[in-house]
Amino acid sequence: MEFSEFKFHQRVAAGVDAAGYTTPTPIQAEAIPAVMAGGDVLGLAQTGTGKTAAFALPILHRLMEGKRGFVRALVIAPTRELAEQIHTSICALGKQTRLRSVTVYGGVGVNPQVEKLRRGAEIVVACPGRLLDHLGQGTIDLSRLEVLVLDEADQMFDMGFFPDIRRILKQLPAERQNLLFSATMPDEIRHLAHEVLRDPVTVQVGNTAPPVTVSHALYPVEQHLKTPLLLELLQHTDTESVLVFTRTKHRAKRLGEQLEKAGYRAASLQGNLSQNRRQAALDGFRNGTFQILVATDIAARGIDVSQVSHVINYDIPDTVEAYVHRIGRTGRAARSGDAFTLVTGEDAAMVRSIERTLKQSLERRRLEGFDYAVPAPKKNTEFARPPRPPRSSPAGRTAGPAAGRGARTAAAPAPPAAKGPAGQGRPAGGRPGPTAGPGRPRNGRSGRGR
Ligand code: AMP
Repeated sequence: MEFSEFKFHQRVAAGVDAAGYTTPTPIQAEAIPAVMAGGDVLGLAQTGTGKTAAFALPILHRLMEGKRGFVRALVIAPTRELAEQIHTSICALGKQTRLRSVTVYGGVGVNPQVEKLRRGAEIVVACPGRLLDHLGQGTIDLSRLEVLVLDEADQMFDMGFFPDIRRILKQLPAERQNLLFSATMPDEIRHLAHEVLRDPVTVQVGNTAPPVTVSHALYPVEQHLKTPLLLELLQHTDTESVLVFTRTKHRAKRLGEQLEKAGYRAASLQGNLSQNRRQAALDGFRNGTFQILVATDIAARGIDVSQVSHVINYDIPDTVEAYVHRIGRTGRAARSGDAFTLVTGEDAAMVRSIERTLKQSLERRRLEGFDYAVPAPKKNTEFARPPRPPRSSPAGRTAGPAAGRGARTAAAPAPPAAKGPAGQGRPAGGRPGPTAGPGRPRNGRSGRGR
């Protein structure tokens, strides 16, 4: 199939050419005709499938006809990062259309948003909380809305946004086209879809399948050897940019520090960071300043790091869906990527679930030359909770945590000898810079969209 078959307005087709897209991805091939037909669409697709263009292109095409200066399309997304990415895609694909897109999310000043809205925009990409604020203040007029997109609905549910979404829905014109995208379809999303969509066409692509371009491998290892194994893996693998997932934000922070200490250009992304530091970590990862980004699932939500060469699960995720989501960050749209998962004996049941769902058995690998026999440190294993003080000793109660902190350094890995650390693994100058457009948030709080 060719993009020309969609018969987009020529200024939209020019955007497709400029983006370098030649063949529509499966979700685009299915969703674009359905959206262009004007009806409601339920899209079951994960990040990395090309779903943004699947709704952005038909919207741009539609908006080429009709009046300008009113908000006619609204995209609601769970995180500011995703909102920025969608906005950036719309700006890139719609460069020749002269249609205007504005982002609306919290954690940044409200006045620039008010000013941009006042000047006029046809498309608004928003997070729910701040959008409600604008509606409350009367600084946004959605009375002429024609198309509503709810993107990553499952994540919006996870983040507790559904009450806000329902409040927003009440303030929209009843006559409109609705598009709802979600990677998964638990009951709550089904209910919302039922409330919002009228006779929807359902398009489903690879709901529980990661991109085919990703190769997976499991590295069985004992818990206390995870960090040394990770360092060894990094040394032995030609990694361009690595996204490492940990189960908790504490582990993300600590592992980021350990990698830095070992000489890698690494940063960690966890919920406790200020918006400035979070942005610096993200920007640094995108432009190649950091080769490694360590993150939790929540912190990494919605990040588009389309050039990630490796995803490493330092900790296996809690659900198969989270596994697919994480892995979806590498091997995006025809690029190939690798996904490594460090697994301990405790992860056996989760590994079985993943293999059952993906209908493939994952390769178990052993790293040649790595000493798997090193015993666990006696006093404390890395990240282990400090031992509980005996109940009878009140003094012991305060001693616990301090003992835990001191002992943690015992498991610190040795720095790598040869390949890998700062300056290696990427040609001078790093990857091409971010393609992100204007309006990236520079300050404010991290977290939800309000
Ligand atoms: P998304 O799932 O929308 O986050 O898109 C994932 C990545 O695929 C983005 O970097 C897009 O620019 C890219 N992409 C989307 N559609 C295509 C296409 N038809 N051909 C090549 N790359 C694409």
